Amino acid sequence: MPGTIIIAGGGIGGLATALSLHQAGLEVEVHESVEQIGALGVGINLLPHAVRELDALGLLPELEAAAVAPATLAYFTKRGEPIWDEPRGRSAGYGWPQLSIHRGTLQRLLLDAALDRIGPDRVHTGHHLVDVAETDSAVTAHFAPRRGAEPTISVTSDVLIAADGIHSVMRSIRYPDEGMPKWNGAMLWRGLAEAPPVLDGRTMIWAGHPDQKFVGYPIADLPDGRQLFNFIAEFRMHGVELTEREDWNQPGVLDDFIGRFESWVFPWLDVPALIRSSSGTYRFPMVDRDPVDRWSFGRTTLLGDAAHPMYPIGSNGASQAILDARVLTACLRSYPDDPVRALERYDEERRPATGGIVLANRGFGPELPMKLVEERAPDGFADIADVITPDEIADVTEGYRRTAGFALAALADGISLADRTY
Ligand SMILES: Cc1cc2nc3c(=O)[nH]c(=O)nc-3n(C[C@H](O)[C@H](O)[C@H](O)COP(=O)(O)OP(=O)(O)OC[C@H]3O[C@@H](n4cnc5c(N)ncnc54)[C@H](O)[C@@H]3O)c2cc1C
Repeated sequence: MPGTIIIAGGGIGGLATALSLHQAGLEVEVHESVEQIGALGVGINLLPHAVRELDALGLLPELEAAAVAPATLAYFTKRGEPIWDEPRGRSAGYGWPQLSIHRGTLQRLLLDAALDRIGPDRVHTGHHLVDVAETDSAVTAHFAPRRGAEPTISVTSDVLIAADGIHSVMRSIRYPDEGMPKWNGAMLWRGLAEAPPVLDGRTMIWAGHPDQKFVGYPIADLPDGRQLFNFIAEFRMHGVELTEREDWNQPGVLDDFIGRFESWVFPWLDVPALIRSSSGTYRFPMVDRDPVDRWSFGRTTLLGDAAHPMYPIGSNGASQAILDARVLTACLRSYPDDPVRALERYDEERRPATGGIVLANRGFGPELPMKLVEERAPDGFADIADVITPDEIADVTEGYRRTAGFALAALADGISLADRTY
């Protein structure tokens, strides 16, 4: 087995990888850029195949206690008319739930587990990866106390896994001409509101169409019977250049987007009132990067958003990072004396799979039926069956499940990815 494995990045992907490798008996160290890991972000979704892996890591009871398991995903028009709904998670027959959770809660849960199992002396903060040097037998990572500072710490190991997010330093070393992420013109305002349960309190809502959309789902039940409701209000801008580097923590301005949603008062949800009840929003452009030809070079590889940043559509950002962690673990176990081959094998397995999702999301992913309904009946309809058939929708949603790896049949054997041989 390889000696110490260094992970750059203590986000969802980096921490899941650390826990997974540790579970397989490997020595790991995490080096996270920020000095203090805070509860950042808003809601995030974990699909059943990712939850299966977190279950195999022994984290399911804590996760379920901290999350809401949506039982239904429902599509609506911009007027709130139902288009389609489908069961999710256990309600759809999976052995594991889908989970909606605050990103900060998920990261804290993974961090606490890492501190407990791997040890606080192996989880370093204020270590920003700035450079890498490699020989045939080892890789050395150079870390600075923060972005833009000179490196002060160098760590040599057998393998370096870069889970350093969409602005990955490792990726920019491998692909120096890649530049900034690509924007599709859609801007997202993400926030949280404390609200009475919407519909049955267990439904994830997608309303509108790709040019203007509202997504909402609860991420926690509150003691007073209300819920912490995560929302995303988004619309596509035309002829506008992105002038800022995107930032998950960029505050949003209500007046920049609320006007577009004033008329979205549905019989079952007053969208503008819900948005107004939130204490604030974060503004985030819908960006991704082109799939690349290679993640693994010698003793280094990419994981999570560093490897496959994708549009936040279809609940795949965190889920796919967790799957990466588990397949990488299996590959390192499968080639105990050859870490270079193990990383190549991981690349062969995960790069095409995730590249397919990046491209599917550019083609609207599971939201395609909402686009078709808007195009075919922009002014409404008497009967949705006149606009789109259930088979047409099911083809899209089942196709997306297959692309993203969570078709029901794919999980039927119940075997965790980390227990497979590659
Ligand atoms: C602050 C923040 C808030 C987010 N909020 C949301 C949200 O609300 N909803 C959503 O769907 N997704 C959100 N995301 C993205 C989501 O977490 C990821 O898409 C997904 O979980 C994949 O995880 P990842 O570990 O690959 O990337 P990330 O979760 O982005 O983690 C990357 C980690 O690497 C660290 N890092 C960056 N550069 C370096 C470096 N050079 N050296 C060492 N460490 C480095 C970062 O500080 C971060 O902790 C957020 C990401 C961040 C960083």
